[in-house]
Amino acid sequence: MRKKIVAGNWKMNLDSREAHLLFEELNNYPSFEGVNLIIAPPSIYLDSFSKHKQNIHLAAQNVSAHLNGAYTGQISSSMLSAMNLNYCIVGHSERRIYNNESNEQIFQKAKSLLDHNIQPILCCGELLEDREAGDAFKVVEQQLSLELTKFTKQQMSNVIVAYEPVWAIGTGVTASSDDAQQMHQFIRTLISTHFDNQLANEISILYGGSCKPDNAKELFSQNDIDGGLIGGASLKFDSFISIAKSF
Ligand code: PEP
Repeated sequence: MRKKIVAGNWKMNLDSREAHLLFEELNNYPSFEGVNLIIAPPSIYLDSFSKHKQNIHLAAQNVSAHLNGAYTGQISSSMLSAMNLNYCIVGHSERRIYNNESNEQIFQKAKSLLDHNIQPILCCGELLEDREAGDAFKVVEQQLSLELTKFTKQQMSNVIVAYEPVWAIGTGVTASSDDAQQMHQFIRTLISTHFDNQLANEISILYGGSCKPDNAKELFSQNDIDGGLIGGASLKFDSFISIAKSF
């Protein structure tokens, strides 16, 4: 049985009061049978949340590819691990686009996280022009190729993949459940080809991109969709919980 996961990416939203209120509501909510609920708040809140977490798991939104040293503004995997964090998002399209993060840097970040027992939530997804040019599968394969070829089976087994078509993020336009399922199946086949069927069937692959309470059920009912990476809808308790109840 693959893990069902609903992860909320708060991005650079919520002031301290709002963030602590939402964290408390989620943290006090009785844990879900079989669904891992994760939030990725701005890093400034992680330390305080990590000291109080009970029913909610925490993820960082980013990590440095370096271990330590003169990297102003960055946070290392060992710092995240010292806070008992279990997850970290890497390769989000906003970082690929605004920070020019390359596949190589994303691979180094994912590797550093795994070395510190933190599971990377590895994002991939094509731009609208890639999809329109018929290149969506090729782009996603390229984005994942370093992890697929360089990780050991043991390392790969701790990766969570998030397919997030860039044109669906924050736009209100969701991939159809058929298109999303096709891409998830493609990613699972890639994992099977590079590793084996057993591993491919164990890895959770999340969908992200305007996932909301009214479309989550349809998306999560697809064979290869194991949950969601949620942006906007994770900022409100009711919508996030409603998505988490959509399996
Ligand atoms: C995201 O940024 O990861 C995301 C899925 O955002 P949204 O749900 O707002 O489209």
